[in-house]
Amino acid sequence: MTTPQEILEWIKRDNIQLIDLKFIDTPGIWQHLTLYQDQIDESSFSVGVPFDGSSIRGWKSINESDMLMVPDPDTAWIDPFYEVPTLSLICSIREPRTGEPYGRDPRSIAQKAVDYLKSTGIGDTAFFGPEAEFFLFDSVRFDQTQNSGYYYVDSDEGIWNSGREEPGGNLGYKPRNKEGYFPVAPTDTSQDIRSEMLLTMLKIGVPIEKHHHEVATGGQCELGFRFGKLVQAADWLLTYKYVIKNVARKHGKSATFMPKPVFGDNGSGMHVHQSIWNNGEPTFAGDKYAGLSQNALWYIGGILKHAPSLLAFTNPTTNSYKRLVPGFEAPVNLAYSQGNRSASVRIPLSGPNPKAKRLEFRCPDATSNPYLAFAAMLLAGIDGIKNQIDPGEPLDVDIYELSPEELSKVPSTPGSLRDALENLERDHEFLTAGNVFPEDFIESWITYKLDREVIPVSIRPHPYEFLL
Ligand code: GLN
Ligand code: MG
Ligand code: MG
Ligand code: MG
Repeated sequence: MTTPQEILEWIKRDNIQLIDLKFIDTPGIWQHLTLYQDQIDESSFSVGVPFDGSSIRGWKSINESDMLMVPDPDTAWIDPFYEVPTLSLICSIREPRTGEPYGRDPRSIAQKAVDYLKSTGIGDTAFFGPEAEFFLFDSVRFDQTQNSGYYYVDSDEGIWNSGREEPGGNLGYKPRNKEGYFPVAPTDTSQDIRSEMLLTMLKIGVPIEKHHHEVATGGQCELGFRFGKLVQAADWLLTYKYVIKNVARKHGKSATFMPKPVFGDNGSGMHVHQSIWNNGEPTFAGDKYAGLSQNALWYIGGILKHAPSLLAFTNPTTNSYKRLVPGFEAPVNLAYSQGNRSASVRIPLSGPNPKAKRLEFRCPDATSNPYLAFAAMLLAGIDGIKNQIDPGEPLDVDIYELSPEELSKVPSTPGSLRDALENLERDHEFLTAGNVFPEDFIESWITYKLDREVIPVSIRPHPYEFLL
């Protein structure tokens, strides 16, 4: 635990002139404001720093725009990408009039989810460990006349290539689709850039573990860091994305966490490992299936029952549903299993240590806002435990190999963001429990996603349609 006094002493000792306050908006993008050192004192950490919140997507209207940012002293690091030495701090948002956490601040929603867990008596700590995959692309304009079939669309900016070399060039060391996991160089061309990303995270305090190339060819990567408490794990995930995107940019590349940028190859997921502890003891280890406790099985029951609406937060973009199709190691069916990677909930082999017992939800992707996604998964799990929701029988076969008749008995993930949002409209009581997600926040999430993403995408011609 770092105290505000320690931060202020650090600023003074090293004469750090600038303090960068970062906070998350509703869709999940860090926003920031840089202050001169004399604008920060002890009250900044208790009362907060005022700012205008009226232009933040989905927040206050212009006539009541004042808000407070409260920096968390445990999140301090020197920003590795600014040339001018600058101290970075992650903030939560409060209401200026009451001093209460702002109801629509995702980081405060995540904290409320943990407080709610404590109030139920089920546990006092929720651990989360996300594994976010991404692609590294060259920042080169795509030439439509050389259409190799690999492209992705970057908002309204136009069509960019996937970073693969032009046809006609050297075709050596280029594996076929889905064979990128994980030959050494010269096939692997992103070793040094991943190493720089990983060591940059270490420098700013993220407990790193590993990095490797992923299954999709031509630059799909994954870096690993240790699991943490829910809010901290979400802070680390945003730090992870920030470091990856900025190191990539330094090298003339762009990193994307878009779930399905390349047709015909694996997409990028964000599997999320999770467990609940109480009084320093793990509560997910027991003598049931796969060494799980009864509570862990009910938690799975809650995740699977609410998955059709939960995905509106864990897979919140139109592109998310292009990843959730058969044949690419992404889950399509709502089932659980030990080891089986085609099930949406997997119980990883964890050895005899009960502390490592956890489950992995494989649906999410990193376009989600991690505070909202982690909070929503925890709430689905808590609902499962409170209502003793039976997850049914495990599915210990490769789901992709089942006959259509067997498969028809296994429920599927939603087919589109619109489906997930409609499910959320019907099923969200598990999220409003303890007022963790305010009702009006859920309504505004649905409206925002429909008006700004689902409808705009649905009315734009797609390059594939030009083949008709
Ligand atoms: N990329 C796969 C997904 O979309 C996961 C591959 C892996 O990590 N085994 O979930
Ligand atoms: Mg992994
Ligand atoms: Mg992976
Ligand atoms: Mg995994």
